[in-house]
Amino acid sequence: MVSDKELAEFLFPEVKETIEDLERRFPPRKLPEGAEVTRFAPSPTGFLHTGSLFTDMIAYYVAKQSGGVYFFRLEDTDTKRTIPGAAGELIDQLFTFGLGHKEGYFVDGDKGDYGPYQQSKRADIYKVGIKYLVSIGRAYPDFCSSEDLEKIRKAQEESKVIPGYYGIYARDRNLSNDERVERIKKGEPWVIRFKSLSDHDRKMTFHDEIRGDLEIQENDIDVVIYKSDGLPTYHFAHVMDDHFMRTTLVSRGEEWIPSTPTHLELFSAFGWQPPKYAHLPVIMKLDHGNKRKLSKRKDPEAAVSYFLRQGYPVEGVKLYLMSIANSNFEEWCIENKKYILDGFKFSFDKMSLDGALFDLDKLAYFSKEAIAGMDIESFYGQVASYAKLYDPELEAKIELDPAYFKKILNIERDRPNPRKDYAKYGDILPLVAFFYDDEYARKKEAGLPFDPAFDRDFIKEFLNDIADNMAYGPDEATWWNSVKEIASRHGFATVNREYKANPSAFKGNMAAASSLMRVALTGSKDSPSMYEIISIMGKDRVHLRLQKALD
Ligand code: GLU
Repeated sequence: MVSDKELAEFLFPEVKETIEDLERRFPPRKLPEGAEVTRFAPSPTGFLHTGSLFTDMIAYYVAKQSGGVYFFRLEDTDTKRTIPGAAGELIDQLFTFGLGHKEGYFVDGDKGDYGPYQQSKRADIYKVGIKYLVSIGRAYPDFCSSEDLEKIRKAQEESKVIPGYYGIYARDRNLSNDERVERIKKGEPWVIRFKSLSDHDRKMTFHDEIRGDLEIQENDIDVVIYKSDGLPTYHFAHVMDDHFMRTTLVSRGEEWIPSTPTHLELFSAFGWQPPKYAHLPVIMKLDHGNKRKLSKRKDPEAAVSYFLRQGYPVEGVKLYLMSIANSNFEEWCIENKKYILDGFKFSFDKMSLDGALFDLDKLAYFSKEAIAGMDIESFYGQVASYAKLYDPELEAKIELDPAYFKKILNIERDRPNPRKDYAKYGDILPLVAFFYDDEYARKKEAGLPFDPAFDRDFIKEFLNDIADNMAYGPDEATWWNSVKEIASRHGFATVNREYKANPSAFKGNMAAASSLMRVALTGSKDSPSMYEIISIMGKDRVHLRLQKALD
């Protein structure tokens, strides 16, 4: 009679290492009490999803705030779904968001002592674990073809029982080891399944860092842990990897809750202490009043690249995601009069469970705050790199005269209550286009929106006088006084009270006078501070625009 140990040897004669060897090869990390080891473990199957960025950010901050380690593992065991180049792009985006790792998988080679960090390169390590489970009778080869499995499923459907490969439906679970060896010798294809000792009629409890104690049905499916391509499935890889990479806290999407009993049973079969789990809520979207998952197909904001292409500041996106993560974050920002992540303590207890709602208005709010909080050099740097990557028109404008552009960006920023015009870098060009003569000429061609209450000759005379005689520089008060003086010459009331008392005695008030100037200078009725605009444009350009506005 073939024993379990002999069966294991027969299946994996090439595997010489033991679990004890792996324990020595990947010793526990030396970290202070309370330090968490977290990881981000994406599959390279497509673009970086907004929900994944959210998951990643939590793992990153939990490690950072606890003085622990955050590493990156590439989960590429599903080779059919792997998209070439996806991993590199994903990592670039994480770095762009300031959430890059120091340990883990990199396109040009791993960094760290717990690798390889790419699952497809860990086949040898997994086999040690698989061999061990077979040798203790907790895993077995299964010969079912997909047609056989389909037959089992149909029979279960007919007898209205829970579908799956378990208990009496686990066809090959009770084969003798002798028969197993014989069939393998004959060349029958096989996979390895975990032998579950659970019972779906029983409940088990596990602790989730966000949800507290969760009582759920045991999972008695004999899951496949080792596929015919020599690689494990997620369930097995998760257990082996997080054990030997010494992860202390697994934060992952809530879709993994139903599989957690299987994972815990696997940990216990090895006699290992499982990590802590935090199952994160899925990001939802309000669609015509109904909540639904953010969808790859329907919502452009489901892809992280959307934010980069639109030019949302990465800091704004992160602030926003933190506000989804912790309900008290926004309050904290207001109390501390600063919108920065550092200093805020993320906590799982404060995580809302009813599905975080994605809200573009809220994102815009946080992005404006993030931009307002940047110093001009980093703001300029960010805009310039955005323009280079995504906005050639803006790039051309910047290159025309970088110093001019920087001054434009800095309008009304150096003050306690800075302007918050921009939520994203893509908003900038339309708002500042008037500073550039070609864009201004286009507006002029379309017709400048002067108040029709004034006739053209009057406007022309007034603007000419302003152009020739207002004080350029030296400070806002002197400039404004000179404007008032000229306006008064042309019949405008310089004191609003006087205008209100007797409107027919005047051409208008100072708001009307400055509106004429504003339209002539910028081509529209709204603009930031005219004094700053004039200082930036310089006397020549301003003079020309005022003089030629009606030509
Ligand atoms: N590769 C899994 C996924 O992308 C990772 C889940 C986990 O973090 O354990 O969903």
